[in-house]
Amino acid sequence: MQYVSTRGSAPALDFEGVTLAGLASDGGLYIPAEWPRFSEAEIAALAGLPYAQLAARVMQPFVGDSLTPEKLLELCEKAYGRFAHKAVTPLVQLDEQNWLLELFHGPTLAFKDVALQLLGLLFEEFLSRSDARLTIVGATSGDTGSAAIDAVAGRDRVDIFMLHPNGRVSDVQRRQMTTVLSPNVYNIAIDGSFDDAQAMVKRMFGDRAMTDRFRISAVNSINWARLMAQVVYYFAVGVQLGAPHRKIAFSVPTGNFGDVFAGYVAAQMGLPVEKLIVATNVNDILHRALSSGDYSTGTVTPTAAPSMDIQVSSNFERLLFDVGGRDGVALAEQMRGFEATKAMQLTNQQREGAAALFTSARADPDQMTQAIRWAYEECGEVIDPHTAIGLHAARNAGIDPAVPVVTLATAHPAKFRDAVERATGTRPTLPTRIGDLFEREERYAELPGDYDAIAAYVAEHATPNG
Ligand SMILES: *Cc1c(COP(=O)(O)O)cnc(C)c1O
Repeated sequence: MQYVSTRGSAPALDFEGVTLAGLASDGGLYIPAEWPRFSEAEIAALAGLPYAQLAARVMQPFVGDSLTPEKLLELCEKAYGRFAHKAVTPLVQLDEQNWLLELFHGPTLAFKDVALQLLGLLFEEFLSRSDARLTIVGATSGDTGSAAIDAVAGRDRVDIFMLHPNGRVSDVQRRQMTTVLSPNVYNIAIDGSFDDAQAMVKRMFGDRAMTDRFRISAVNSINWARLMAQVVYYFAVGVQLGAPHRKIAFSVPTGNFGDVFAGYVAAQMGLPVEKLIVATNVNDILHRALSSGDYSTGTVTPTAAPSMDIQVSSNFERLLFDVGGRDGVALAEQMRGFEATKAMQLTNQQREGAAALFTSARADPDQMTQAIRWAYEECGEVIDPHTAIGLHAARNAGIDPAVPVVTLATAHPAKFRDAVERATGTRPTLPTRIGDLFEREERYAELPGDYDAIAAYVAEHATPNG
C-alpha cells in the first residue's frame, strides 16, 4: 500500500514510512493512494472474531508488506491485551435505537488508547529495524497526551514532548500525563490554547534547524496509523449490529476530525454506513463547515468537554482531499489561503461530497448536561461530557428509526467527574487501575506560548538521531 500527501508534492511512502513520518514534508497529511474494499462475504466473516483478530484483518490491507500478518496479529494481541474489558470495545444498548460503543477501557480511560497502544508498538518495531531514534512532539487538548505517554513511556529509541494548554485540561487529565516520571517523557504546559500548541508542533515539522538534528514524528491524529487503528471498531460494531446486511449510523464527539474520519474510511471500505454524525460543542467550526460551507475559525471557548475545544480540525483536510477530487495542488493552494486568513469556503464539490455521508449537530452546555442526565435517569448509564455531546447529536439527527445509531463513548465518566457530578448528583469513582493518581508526584515544565522557547527546550532535552 502506497500513501500520498493531501498537498500533492511530498514523496509517496509505504506504511512504515508514513507511521514514522507523521506529517508529510509538504505540510499535508498522508492518505492511502486508493481505498481497499472488502466484499460482503469478507465483512460477514468478521462477525464473532476476537477483537485483536478482527483488528489484524481490517488493518492488513493498509499495512501491506510493512508487517507480516503474523507480526501484525502479535502486535494487536499485545496492544489490546492491556484493556480492562475482554471485549476491548463493548457495545451497550440505551433504548430501541441508541447504542453506546465504549471505547474507554484502555490504560488512560479515553478512546485514544485504542490507537496509541498499537502505535507505540509499531514505533518500537520499525525503529529497531533501522537502529533509528524518534523525537515525538505532540499537542494535546487532554486525552492524546496521556494515551501517547502511556504508550511510549520507558520505551527505547523514543523521546516524547507533550504540549498541553496550561490550566485548560482537567486535573485527572493533567495528572495522567505529569505523573509519568520516565526519563524519556517531557510534559510542557504552555500559555495558550490547544490550537496554539498544535500550530507550534506543525511549525516544528517544517523547521530545518530541528529536523536536521532530530527525527521528529507525530502522535496526533495527523499520523495515519492512528486513524487506521480506529477504523477497526466501526467494523467490530457494524458486524455486531447486522452489517453487511443492515446500515448503521454513528454519532462521533468530534475535535480534530480523526475519529469520525476513521468512520468515513470504514464506509469507503464497504461498511454500510447510513450517516456519520459529527457532534461538536460550542466550538463548532465543523458544524458550520458541514452545514454552510464556511470553514472559518473563531476563538476557542473552554468547555466541560475539553478534548473537543478545537477550532482547527487537522483531519478535515483528508476529507476535503478525498471528496474534492484528490487534487493535491489545488488543496495546497486552498490550505495556504486558510492558513493566511483563518477562513475558507468549501468548494461545491467538497460540500456535496461531504453531505453524502456526513451530517452535524452542535450541543451547548445545557444540552450536554441534559444528555448526561437522560442517559443516567432513563437508561441507568453514566456518561462523560464528550459522549453526552455525541448522544445529544444522535438523538436529534433525525435518523430513520429503523437504523441503529451508535454513539462513540470516547471517555470514561471518571475522567470528568465534576461535570458528571453536576449533572447526575453522583461522583464517579476512578477505576482501581488509576486510583492512586492524586497521590503520585507530578513533573512538568511551564513555558510561554512562544515557538522559539519550545524549540529550544526540545533541542536541549532530546537525543539526536544517529
Ligand atoms: C480526542 C477526543 C475527542 C475528539 O476526537 P477527534 O478524533 O480529535 O475528533 C472526543 N472525545 C474525547 C474524550 C477525546 O479524547
